[in-house]
Amino acid sequence: MKQRIALLGSTGSIGIQTLDIVRENPGLFEITTLTAHRNWERLARQAVEFDADSVVIADERQYDALRQALDGTPIKVYAGEEALRQVVQSGQVDVVVNALVGYAGLMPTVAAVEAGKKVALANKETLVAGGCYVMPLAARHKAPIVPIDSEHSAIFQCLTGEKSPVRRLIVTCSGGAFRDRSREELAHVTVEQALKHPQWRMGDKITIDSATLVNKGFEVIEAHWLFGVPAERISVLIHPQSIVHSMVEFGDGAIKAQLGSPDMRTPIAYALSFPQRLDRPVAPFSFA
Ligand code: NDP
Repeated sequence: MKQRIALLGSTGSIGIQTLDIVRENPGLFEITTLTAHRNWERLARQAVEFDADSVVIADERQYDALRQALDGTPIKVYAGEEALRQVVQSGQVDVVVNALVGYAGLMPTVAAVEAGKKVALANKETLVAGGCYVMPLAARHKAPIVPIDSEHSAIFQCLTGEKSPVRRLIVTCSGGAFRDRSREELAHVTVEQALKHPQWRMGDKITIDSATLVNKGFEVIEAHWLFGVPAERISVLIHPQSIVHSMVEFGDGAIKAQLGSPDMRTPIAYALSFPQRLDRPVAPFSFA
């Protein structure tokens, strides 16, 4: 049976790459719902291509434009926060991919968890802002939360099959756009420079947060809530190549790492297919 997906934030960086995975695997996944904030043009194109049942535009002022763009199709068009809550709880949805940016992602995660849905979580702000509430709620509703963030997907993969407690999580960090700049040089950097990440092409907010390293702080908080490990046992390690996506050290001194080219479609695919892995058209990694 196909997994029916509600993809929140389909017009953004993670959303678009999630649709790449769905396009590659039409026999495994189908799109029930797509959502965006304001970008009704892209949302309408995606909804037609993936034959979505419904779309939600968060900014209600864009509702008329979206409705007109989808006129003559059977796609249902909704707007606003309450609509977002209702579509994630729909009986037509098996998995909610939360690719929203910012605090706006918290409420839909809570709604999905309350309905017992599997959540493939890119929206780290859900756990930064509400981890102490969301994780016990997910446990109560037996709603699995599978991380998409590459570092957390790596840790999740390293922990799969392990039963013993961990000694330490090691979260890798590319260092962002300004890794080698001095304090004096940092006083003169521009937004455009901050938006040029050396390894990853991502949405603007996370790219800026990577340049300031605030993103890594968020990721330590995210790891704490996802894996129940206190901050004192979570280390951050600068690794500019972004090949080792993160590591776990166990009590016997063994360290497991997850490696691969920097491509967010790998953790997205894993979150969707877990506990299986998809066979994807990825070039073999060259260690040379
Ligand atoms: P983008 O800015 O590229 O996309 C954000 C998406 O959310 C868009 O679809 C946008 O719609 C929608 N959106 C924005 N604001 C709101 C709102 N207030 N209400 C409803 N929808 C809204 O972000 P990213 O894809 O880069 O990031 C998404 C999440 O994934 C973030 O939490 C980020 O930290 C995390 N993440 C991203 C990675 C990446 O490679 N991009 C890597 C690891 C984690 P519209 O297009 O209409 O504005």
